[in-house]
Amino acid sequence: MAEIVQAQLRKFTDEIWRDEIVPTLTEYIRIPNKSPSFEPQWQSLGHMDKAVELLVSWAKPKVAALGATLSVERLPGRTPLILIDVPGSKGSDTVLLYGHLDKQPEMTGWAEGKGPWLPVLEGDKLYGRGGADDGYAMFGSLAALLALKDQKLPHARAVVVIEASEESSSPDLPFYMEALGDRIGSPSLVVCLDSGCGDYERLWLTTSLRGMVGGALRVDVLSEGVHSGDASGVVPSSFRILRQLLARLEDVETGEVIVKELHGDIPPERIAQAKVAAKALGDQVYAKFPMVKGMRPLNDDLVQLVLNRTWRPALSVVGLEGAPPPSNAGNVLRPFTAAKLSMRLPPNVNAQEAAKRIAKLLTDNPPYGANVSFHYEEPGTGWNAPKTAPWLEAALEDASHAAWGQPMAMMGEGGSIPFMAMLGAKFPEAQFVVTGVLGPNSNAHGPNEFLHVPTGKRVTEVVARVLAAHFERT
Ligand SMILES: [Zn+2]
Repeated sequence: MAEIVQAQLRKFTDEIWRDEIVPTLTEYIRIPNKSPSFEPQWQSLGHMDKAVELLVSWAKPKVAALGATLSVERLPGRTPLILIDVPGSKGSDTVLLYGHLDKQPEMTGWAEGKGPWLPVLEGDKLYGRGGADDGYAMFGSLAALLALKDQKLPHARAVVVIEASEESSSPDLPFYMEALGDRIGSPSLVVCLDSGCGDYERLWLTTSLRGMVGGALRVDVLSEGVHSGDASGVVPSSFRILRQLLARLEDVETGEVIVKELHGDIPPERIAQAKVAAKALGDQVYAKFPMVKGMRPLNDDLVQLVLNRTWRPALSVVGLEGAPPPSNAGNVLRPFTAAKLSMRLPPNVNAQEAAKRIAKLLTDNPPYGANVSFHYEEPGTGWNAPKTAPWLEAALEDASHAAWGQPMAMMGEGGSIPFMAMLGAKFPEAQFVVTGVLGPNSNAHGPNEFLHVPTGKRVTEVVARVLAAHFERT
């Protein structure tokens, strides 16, 4: 079997990233193509089309060089999807490479001189929204295929799918899978470059993803605001009722989700891997977050923190409505309080069932007969990786050593990639490589998101090696 020449792979990867990928991602960051959940006008605004055009214009010559085809798929009323079909060296065995081009909203708190749509390259870091999550995925995937071509190494047929509804829980993807199923075929390997890494020192393989239920909870108590001196003590506060309702989901003292159905059994091997990961990461398990002085993490036990983040449910209140800023707040008993809730779920909990359970708990028997509604978005079920095949484990271990000089590490991720659950259910025989560049402080979804460029390059090398090993596997 032909071996990859590491020096040549490194040179190729470094150059294409330096000369093409970083400059193109810089342009990509300027485009405010927020995911449909955060930008209902996405169609008329045209930002999404602009992002698609930018990616396609970069990809076109590469696709030609690879003898591949590229199409932009557009189902009516759905976000577009880029489909690239790269013929294999032989047979119809297929690898599916997945990424997304839609973005999270701006968020506040960007440092001076930085902003979501303002690309800044500072040392190894390219700041701005969407470079790391997940604009680089198509570039990394095609660069890996080109790196193999550069060394005249064979690979299986590769289908690159770049969707544009991921940050809204991928509501459009099932329709595309239905429409494109025959063209995509049945992959024996899925590569997803939309995940995280525990540090930038080794390959991190994502072994599980949490699911999610997101929804808006609203409590109405009055048809208009009234003098709080007049009404308090008579009319129950919508904020207190909201707290009561949230207390049906979580223990306010510990943050523990108290709804039994939202917990799953944690497989013993995942507990063992969490122990290894906690040891490798040390205090970084929590110290990677920008906690204020004096702030402590939720638990002193690092292993429990890793498990909390990857295998347990957790509630975040990610948005609030119905109250003025404190500086402009009069003494008013406000008519309503609304909150956007984000409930992360263990990898093995059915998100549809969970959403129904949460909705029932929040809306049953509203205190004082308040008007309570909970509207949830498409729930996303989590994912637990199938057992890694020996050829793949060896290839990944090799790739980590070649790219970083360190053994790889395995860990669940706290975030969600809805497509993985979809694919896992559809192709139970497929192997998965889920990894990414979202490491310490890279802060996807928050302010000061950055793409750690060296990690992007190393991940590209990993994909090239995995594709080569996949072709050679017996
Ligand atoms: Zn993402």
